[in-house]
Amino acid sequence: MHVTMVKKRLASGEPCRKCAQAEELLKARGLWSRVDEVLWADENDAASPGMQLGARLGIGLAPFFVVRQEGGAETVFESVLQFAQFVQGAKETATVEGNASPAASAGDSVLAITPAELEAAARDLASRPPAEILRWGLERWGASLGIAFSGAEDVVLVHMASESDLPFSVFCLDTGRLHPETYRFIDTVRKRYKIDITLMAPEAAPLQAFVKQKGLFSFYDEGHEECCGIRKVEPLRRSLGGLRAWATGQRRDQSPATRSAIAVVETDRTFAGRGGPGTLIKLNPLAAWSSADTWQYIRGSGIPYNALHERGFISIGCEPCTRAVLPGEHERAGRWWWEENTKRECGLHIGNVAPPKR
Ligand code: SF4
Repeated sequence: MHVTMVKKRLASGEPCRKCAQAEELLKARGLWSRVDEVLWADENDAASPGMQLGARLGIGLAPFFVVRQEGGAETVFESVLQFAQFVQGAKETATVEGNASPAASAGDSVLAITPAELEAAARDLASRPPAEILRWGLERWGASLGIAFSGAEDVVLVHMASESDLPFSVFCLDTGRLHPETYRFIDTVRKRYKIDITLMAPEAAPLQAFVKQKGLFSFYDEGHEECCGIRKVEPLRRSLGGLRAWATGQRRDQSPATRSAIAVVETDRTFAGRGGPGTLIKLNPLAAWSSADTWQYIRGSGIPYNALHERGFISIGCEPCTRAVLPGEHERAGRWWWEENTKRECGLHIGNVAPPKR
């Protein structure tokens, strides 16, 4: 058996934090000696050995591990904990021959979750603290679980993930219409937690065509769906296509009309992940928390927050579609205020109001 670990090296020459954490975890468990070679995936260098291996296996996120058996059978692990369990012999896995597609690899079978397992997890985790719910996901999927950070209270999840010392990834939908304060806050979080935040921009051609035809403020007359579809939903679909699971900062109390029934863990019925339709898992660790719980945690833990919160903004999205709320108004009253309550759901959680895609 030959084990290759692929680590990402940043343009600065430093290893990425998640890769360093994975190495530390293996050392702490006495498993580092099981890694026979390290291949570097150099940022912006598609020819580096780690980038080439990732491209062959269809994996875009380091760290990951490739276990090669005599005869060429390969098993791929995108979660350091799953790899640790494998080499400790705690988990039996099947292997596949040769250069099987990533979607059919044994690593995928380890990362997959059956409906029965998911149901049991949802039941067990329903009343657990958010940090435990998030840890459950990170232990299972590692950096293949993406935290959706919108520049508002989702930073709580980033903080909890950082405290867990487990690898994780963070992405943010940069619609191009965020407040300057939000962009500054995103950078504050990046520096504070020493993490990469992948900013997902809309595709240029559809956006240019849309703006050319309808201008920059068509949502006030026609509703937000088309603009959100281009600036949020499509980039989200692209982000999720490379992930096994994602975590959101949704809470039930944010919107009685659209979020009152969200579960702490569920199958995403709208978007497809790396394993294809019906396999993407969505975690909502803060589902049972109230706004007061969230802010108590933010203040108690010294977590940075968007400066707009000091100016009456509660739920923060794009600048033209967000306004401060008055005392006594519901927090979502400041989002798409010109539309009906039942339509005020953003692209990230369109499944809360839309029927599942077949
Ligand atoms: S929130 Fe407003 S500006 Fe942002 S993508 Fe949706 S409609 Fe467009």
